Amino acid sequence: MQNNKYYLYARKSTDVEDKQVLSIEAQLVELREYAKRENLYIAAEFIEKKSAKTTGRPVFGKLLAEIEKDGGNILAWHPDRLARNSVDGGQIVYLLDSGKLGTLKFPSFWFENTSQGKFMLSIAFGQSKYYVDNLSENTKRGLRQKVRRGERPGLAPVGYINDVRTKTVVVDNRQSPLVAEAFELYAKGDQRLEDIAAFLASRGILTKSGKQFPKDKIKRILTNPFYYGHFKYAGEIHEGKHAPIISKKLFDEVQATLAKRGRPQKGATAPQIFCGLLKCATCKLSVTAEKKIKHQKNGNIHEYVYYRCTRKHKTIRCTEPAVTEPDLVAQLADILHSYAMPQAWATTLGKMLDEDEKKANQTSGLFVASAQTRLASLQGKLQRLLDSYLDQDIDQNTYRTRQGELMSEKKSLEEQIGKLTLASKSWVEPMRQWLKQAVSLCEIAKSGEPSAIKEAFLKMDGLNLFLKSKKAQPTAAPNAALPPENIWVLLRKTKEKIARMGDNSAKSCNLVGIEGLEPSRQDGHAPQTCVYTNSTISPEIERSAFWRGIAS
Ligand SMILES: [Zn+2]
Repeated sequence: MQNNKYYLYARKSTDVEDKQVLSIEAQLVELREYAKRENLYIAAEFIEKKSAKTTGRPVFGKLLAEIEKDGGNILAWHPDRLARNSVDGGQIVYLLDSGKLGTLKFPSFWFENTSQGKFMLSIAFGQSKYYVDNLSENTKRGLRQKVRRGERPGLAPVGYINDVRTKTVVVDNRQSPLVAEAFELYAKGDQRLEDIAAFLASRGILTKSGKQFPKDKIKRILTNPFYYGHFKYAGEIHEGKHAPIISKKLFDEVQATLAKRGRPQKGATAPQIFCGLLKCATCKLSVTAEKKIKHQKNGNIHEYVYYRCTRKHKTIRCTEPAVTEPDLVAQLADILHSYAMPQAWATTLGKMLDEDEKKANQTSGLFVASAQTRLASLQGKLQRLLDSYLDQDIDQNTYRTRQGELMSEKKSLEEQIGKLTLASKSWVEPMRQWLKQAVSLCEIAKSGEPSAIKEAFLKMDGLNLFLKSKKAQPTAAPNAALPPENIWVLLRKTKEKIARMGDNSAKSCNLVGIEGLEPSRQDGHAPQTCVYTNSTISPEIERSAFWRGIAS
């Protein structure tokens, strides 16, 4: 489209990044002179006072609509006047591609409507974008520096004013004594937040729209450390450079009053701690918490938390009784303790695990090395085969058959190498984690900390808890696929067995003939020595199979 019309576009915003840019008047002067010099016909001038960081500039929109309709060319000071975001930049390039926009002229930027020119243009748009992104980073950095200097960015709180000239926050001489009085008033303890709002309103401290402050605004004022000389920024407390208007002591008194007057948050999370952890043994539904308040004759009030079946089963009328929280905590702690692994066992097992890991690595290392040698020789064979084929020593059929065989072998070897390199990692780490976890149960049980107890149970795979006749009962999940049996159940059995064998063996921590838990399989009869301390241990290969079983 041959169109000699030019649209002049000038833009400057109040954005910080536009500070260095020519004023709109200066842009107009320059552009008009440029048009005269280059003999360009200006059909219209578009002037905008908005940032180009985001889309949605009305004048720019009109300019594009005009070009879309009638075609034309654009004259602007620099590409960054046109676009500082990828959408607007994309629109310009699109109009160029579609031919509606003939060309662009900039006194401060070279452009030609060729693929190279468009490339340069999109880089210029992109650089503007980078500049904008970079700038908002710089602005943030500027704010952080301000914070470090002890200046709180943003609007000054009630009782202070922003001094535009010095760019600092200064005490508002009229308001600040009133704000301090409000603190004094609230500290007495007989005032509500609404009363404080009314007090401030009566002295002319109101919202921008001239109304009394809402309750939550008063609370924000009363909890703002700014008034005693600190300030909060990005979640942290900083020392401010501004003058405090109340003492820290008064502030603390106000906080105490707030805590006292504020309604006690009635166990918002605490009672629910074990919700969903247990299931009712009768109807298999989740056990939930219920709070009961008992008023005694002497006026004392007691709160109890009970756990009971949700009793929402469609056909079963559940009669399982509820259990109190302290009772349940004690029971769960006991159960947890019964699964705890004695440290001495863990140490022994840990050493064995280290040994097995080393051996497994050696074995797999040996295999991997030999596999790699074979791989190299296969590679050589393949090469020679190809050579003989190319030299026409063998026919195509022979070549293809033999080549297929060698390639197949090569693939199998590569796969085995891959598997072996991963194999030991796949069971050693989980096993170590399990040992750690099993030992930690003891401390958790002793702490009696409900949240820790709950978390510990949630981490014990394959173990379900049921509530029957006010008793929590652990059960292995029915389809737990852990061989040879649920490892937690096994560990507990082992401990019971050792306990039965008397104090001596329990103290010495000899894992004598423990079915299942000892890595080497004993065949039926228990040997009289600890399987871990004597040397008659089954081949490691069997033991690592055992580890793998646990870790799986
Ligand atoms: Zn039930």
